[in-house]
Amino acid sequence: MGKSKDIVEKLFSLGLLKIKNVAELEKASSESGRDIIEEAVVTGLVSPDALPYIISENLDIPFIVLQEGDVDSSLCALIPYEIAWGEEVIPLSQGNDFVTVGVCDLLRPKLFRRIEKLTGKKARVALVGRDSIRRMLMSLYPPPIAISDKKISGHIVGDIDLPKFLATRDSSSLLSEILFQSRTAGIRVLILHHVSGKFVIEGREDSRSIVLLETPGNIGEFLFDGLKKLCGFRDGDPAVRERIIETGEGKRSGMYKVALVSGAGSKKAVIRIIPNALGKLSIDALGFNEDQLQALTGLISREKGIYIIASPTLDGVSTTLYSMVRFAKSPDSAVVTIEEDIRFKNEGFIQLEKPMLEEDLSIEKIVRTLSPDILMYSNLTIEKLIHETAHIYPSRVSVFAGIECKSLESAVEKVITSEASRHALASLMKAVVFQKLVRILCDACKKELPAIPSMYLDPEMVKSGKRDLLARMKYYIPSGCDECGGTGFSGMTAIFDMVVFSPSVRMEMLMDKREEEKREKILSHFRLGPEELIVKMLMEGQVTFEDIVPFLDLIREKNEGG
Ligand SMILES: [Zn+2]
Repeated sequence: MGKSKDIVEKLFSLGLLKIKNVAELEKASSESGRDIIEEAVVTGLVSPDALPYIISENLDIPFIVLQEGDVDSSLCALIPYEIAWGEEVIPLSQGNDFVTVGVCDLLRPKLFRRIEKLTGKKARVALVGRDSIRRMLMSLYPPPIAISDKKISGHIVGDIDLPKFLATRDSSSLLSEILFQSRTAGIRVLILHHVSGKFVIEGREDSRSIVLLETPGNIGEFLFDGLKKLCGFRDGDPAVRERIIETGEGKRSGMYKVALVSGAGSKKAVIRIIPNALGKLSIDALGFNEDQLQALTGLISREKGIYIIASPTLDGVSTTLYSMVRFAKSPDSAVVTIEEDIRFKNEGFIQLEKPMLEEDLSIEKIVRTLSPDILMYSNLTIEKLIHETAHIYPSRVSVFAGIECKSLESAVEKVITSEASRHALASLMKAVVFQKLVRILCDACKKELPAIPSMYLDPEMVKSGKRDLLARMKYYIPSGCDECGGTGFSGMTAIFDMVVFSPSVRMEMLMDKREEEKREKILSHFRLGPEELIVKMLMEGQVTFEDIVPFLDLIREKNEGG
């Protein structure tokens, strides 16, 4: 004890113990019955820098070399399977009021507290080499699927802790890890299938094909189970299912497009790795202009309430909704999505498919039973949205909803003329965003026309001071080449038009005047439109005139008004 106290005093004077004075630690140590050093380690009061010193100086924390049979297997009941494997900890011995556990890393205060909670006993610790721990785990907590090294091979075997995932029965995390390792290795497509009694994961990069993993068939079933969990597929689903999933945490996260075919007794999955996909689902990559992005992201981070994405066809709306949800959520947000057909499967979200729901769940009921911080509806009517959310005023939840609607004007009008209480609505409504997809002309084959086709020429437009713009525009039509697969277009982009319900807009909503006047005022004063983007697209010939015509009115209004 004298030696321990010397060490503690030395560490304390060096600032390596998170205590006010040594006496405080001594008191705790005498209460728990643990050695003073052990007390500091178990309760997490030791700085990581102090550990090597403790380990080299102090023999009161034993370093144990274990042989098979050294540990009584009845002790396994003390620590559950998942914790033992997940945290690499094994029980060593127990007394009436303490349990000694073996770890290879002493800096685990959370783990020690968890074990104290689980066992109702004081935790004591011993250091055990990592190899020893792994050997003991295999014998004390054997994985339910037997593993023999000889039967497992492949390119990524060395990078994956197969026994740990099998032992913790965590099939989805194992698959997630395999996807991450494959992506790191430059693989683009993975094929999972059974080949003559074995399970094989084949990886394709450019023209090369390599065996990433080859295992006995039962591990394959385990992995197919993990894939189904990641995708949210259920038994009884159609034989062919596709889904885009996001899995992995932090830097290990990625997006993948999964196609699973399950026939009579056979299964095959093709998984495509979507490169740089996270950027595509980021709110700043959607096509908002600077002002729109700033207003919208500022509001989303500050205020809960209703965010509407209106669109004539709902094309591309789920991408926008997802990006907004991803921006709005914090690591511990509860997210619930209600979709016609799940397009992106996100880890940690509760995702419900509308056709699978037994009844038409009301927003109020979902908020009551699942208490989400964020609720996403892929397709709803404005009437239903407002009617049901008015009940949850003041809002504890952000609702992002896709609404089928032909224009921003009509969406704003529906909001203003709704029957909900004006005060509730003025407080709940945060933004109405109108989204329309336009086709981007293929740069390689688009053809320039000498003049604008007369069928698009609106005499009023020519009159209204836009002659200049029309004269400077380039008129292109699609053609078709190898690069664009003969379509004439290289992709789609979204054009956004919006009203952010700032305090001024809310005041306007509460004013005592005709709804029509309010609508006009809001649209003429508080609109964040895409005029500049449209002019740029027309000047540069990125889009056809036909696609952009519906937005030209906007430019006229602005020019005439200002
Ligand atoms: Zn082309």
